[in-house]
Amino acid sequence: MSIVVLSGGVGGARFLRGLVDVVAAEDITIVGNVGDDVEVLGLHVSPDLDSILYALAGVADEERGWGRADETWHALEAAARLGGEAWFRLGDRDLGLHLVRTQALRSGEHLSTVTHRLAQRLRIRAGLLPATDDRLRTWIETPAGSFPFQEWFVARGHRDEVDGVRFEGATEAEPAPGVLDAIESAELILIAPSNPYVSVWPTLAVREIRDALELRGCPAVAVSPLVGGRAVKGPADRMLARLGGGTTAAHVADCYLGLIDALVIDERDAADADAVASLGIRPVVAQTLMTDAEARARLAQATLQGALALR
Ligand code: GDP
Ligand code: CA
Repeated sequence: MSIVVLSGGVGGARFLRGLVDVVAAEDITIVGNVGDDVEVLGLHVSPDLDSILYALAGVADEERGWGRADETWHALEAAARLGGEAWFRLGDRDLGLHLVRTQALRSGEHLSTVTHRLAQRLRIRAGLLPATDDRLRTWIETPAGSFPFQEWFVARGHRDEVDGVRFEGATEAEPAPGVLDAIESAELILIAPSNPYVSVWPTLAVREIRDALELRGCPAVAVSPLVGGRAVKGPADRMLARLGGGTTAAHVADCYLGLIDALVIDERDAADADAVASLGIRPVVAQTLMTDAEARARLAQATLQGALALR
């Protein structure tokens, strides 16, 4: 069964690890968020694509939640000592990837092409596509001003409340080669338990991707990033409260109206099921906390079962 998964970084990568345990990885095409991409020390960093690459290659640091395991930080420390920027944490092993990608982009290669090559080198069998090869950048509007995503998230520790999100370049951005084909021929579309506003909306801001999802000919199922009304990690709950008006599963469903047929919600949010259903979206109650490999696979399985029930 061909499956397309829209994914952000950490939550998306955790979910994908479970998914490749229960379906053939070759059947999966991941469409990754590029709104978080950033230039650091002259290097092009795609944090969400990299979280997915490292997770599926089995080299991610699980405790830290981002970057690579067995990481050291000598290059960044040396750069800092020389007055270079060090606000964005890049480990030595991680830097290897950014060097290769940046060189490829400078020589005129597209992000999708170099991403494909990196995935092959890491022996990843699922397809991984950036949403677009064009420049698309998330901006965060806060009471303290407007910031590029990583400046708000990393440099300012996402402490500012969010009044709005904006996706620079989205209007002109074209889907990366393969994205529309994958959506049009998919038998199932999934949205990972990622932050709706900053991990999924940037991809949905690409007009042709959004249109293809609205016109889909197969079921689409999202997984809520909330457990008991709270984000497992990061600012998704605070953003939902302020931008969406609340932190129930229905508020998550509201982020994807017209784009999904079912929403997997945690057992601790089961009381929200009726509110989700009243939006015309079928609630699927499951254990969604991905604490280990078994829990990840169980969530993937519950999501697939929820999708089958829609047929
Ligand atoms: P980022 O791009 O690295 O910020 O990652 P994502 O947007 O893909 O994922 C962040 C979201 O993942 C957060 O809102 C978390 O609540 C969610 N998340 C992380 N771990 C889990 C989990 O075990 N279960 C569920 N349901 N959500 C999770
Ligand atoms: Ca991200």
